Amino acid sequence: GPRLRIAPSPTGEPHVGTAYTALFNYLYAKKMGGTFILRIEDTDATRSTPEFEKNVLDALKWCGLEWAEGPDVGGPYGPYRQSDRKDLYKPYVDRLVEEGHAFHCFCTPERLERMRAGQRAEGRAPKYDGLCMHLKAEEVTERINSGEPNVVRMKIPTEGSCKFTDGVYGDVEIPWDAVDMQVLLKADGMPTYHMANVVDDHMMKITHVARGEEWLASVPKHILLYTYLGLEPPQFFHLPLMRNPDKSKLSKRKNPTSISYYSALGYLPEALMNFLGLFFIQIAEGEELMDMPTLIEKFDADNLNKSGAVFDTQKLEWLNGRFLRETLSEEDFILRVAAWASENARLKEGLKLSQSRITKLGELPALMGFLLQSDMVPEAEAFAKIKKTNPAEILEILQAVQPVLEKLVEWNVTTIEEALRQLSEDMDKKLRIVVAPLFVAMSGSSRSLPLFDSMAILGRAVVRQRLKTAET
Ligand code: ATP
Ligand code: GLU
Repeated sequence: GPRLRIAPSPTGEPHVGTAYTALFNYLYAKKMGGTFILRIEDTDATRSTPEFEKNVLDALKWCGLEWAEGPDVGGPYGPYRQSDRKDLYKPYVDRLVEEGHAFHCFCTPERLERMRAGQRAEGRAPKYDGLCMHLKAEEVTERINSGEPNVVRMKIPTEGSCKFTDGVYGDVEIPWDAVDMQVLLKADGMPTYHMANVVDDHMMKITHVARGEEWLASVPKHILLYTYLGLEPPQFFHLPLMRNPDKSKLSKRKNPTSISYYSALGYLPEALMNFLGLFFIQIAEGEELMDMPTLIEKFDADNLNKSGAVFDTQKLEWLNGRFLRETLSEEDFILRVAAWASENARLKEGLKLSQSRITKLGELPALMGFLLQSDMVPEAEAFAKIKKTNPAEILEILQAVQPVLEKLVEWNVTTIEEALRQLSEDMDKKLRIVVAPLFVAMSGSSRSLPLFDSMAILGRAVVRQRLKTAET
């Protein structure tokens, strides 16, 4: 049967987009009696961490998307983590070079930067100019032997276009002129995503590749690599990116996008899978509620839902409410709540902060409830209670905070505190004055948990949303 995979890069909090893509691959595999595989793509050693890898495995397990082969369970085509496969890629790269499909490139980062700046100045898209493609073989050997750093790049046809049929987009044609001479092997000997992805999909006998639409423009490079290596490319499906109702891209800076956010707030995995599954399946009104076996039954890759993927949180909530009401017995409901509470990292962080601030456990919901709400609108009176600050000043502070927080690269207690201290100095206001309206914006109340910790727990996207809400 067909073999499909989800190939996450462990470079951040597990994204709902990963669950969305994984679900498509899972449904396809299950529907066609195939195999669903998990492969970790960690060729970007600077951004990949074992912690993010564990998180993405846990998140996909929470979704109920079990894989038959993967780094944790093994399988016949392992290892299933690219950093453990480094030696497997080299022979393929060597062969491409020997057969004249790829070449060593010695251009320094400085030269490449100058070249790109020149191209941009002429209004052209930056693209490697092929300088090293014309080096004599002896010179290449000499420079390699002398230890000069180099990468391997693939050659691209100079005319014509790449034509292929995508399972979602249909017939696609991309001119070769728009394709860059992609680096295949980095100076440190690690393959790039493109090289490792093609070699692994071949070695793991992947038959269908379904992934986010941002990879559509990479297909020509991949097809060319398959052709150079004399291999049959898989069937591609590029899934439309999930968007906000206003059609902007769902992005982690603006929306909560981590799977752990949805599990922490008490969305049920079956509701999230149902919600994401509706992006692929055409159904009639009234048929919305579907468990996994029903999703598999209704899935039809030849008849995909073409309406686009709008991440409508109201619809997700509606489905979640229906799962709670319609599919769980009272007893199951209570068991699920207990399981949710015992595994909930947000709850745990909140409890740690609350311990020294209560006299009875019954005070907990009022004190820390704001950490577990998807949207929280502070009452106007809460702002009015802030002493020594008038409404105009409060608004000024709320507006000044946003750009400062947007600039933070790392989001944690220390960076948030530093940024707000700096802001209070820049605004020539006491820190106490600056944080007071933020307390209310985050928690709805002027008496709550420590602000910097709370903001770290809530996360960048929620903080952003709450500041926007508070402003209005
Ligand atoms: P940013 O928020 O800065 O634009 P991002 O949200 O795209 O970044 P990444 O870390 O680049 O986050 O993506 C993680 C994974 O989630 C990738 O596999 C990507 O394909 C997927 N992904 C990201 N955004 C979406 C989206 N809107 N729809 C579907 N999948 C997405
Ligand atoms: N590692 C890539 C990603 O996370 C996988 C893309 C693919 O499936 O080819 O988006």
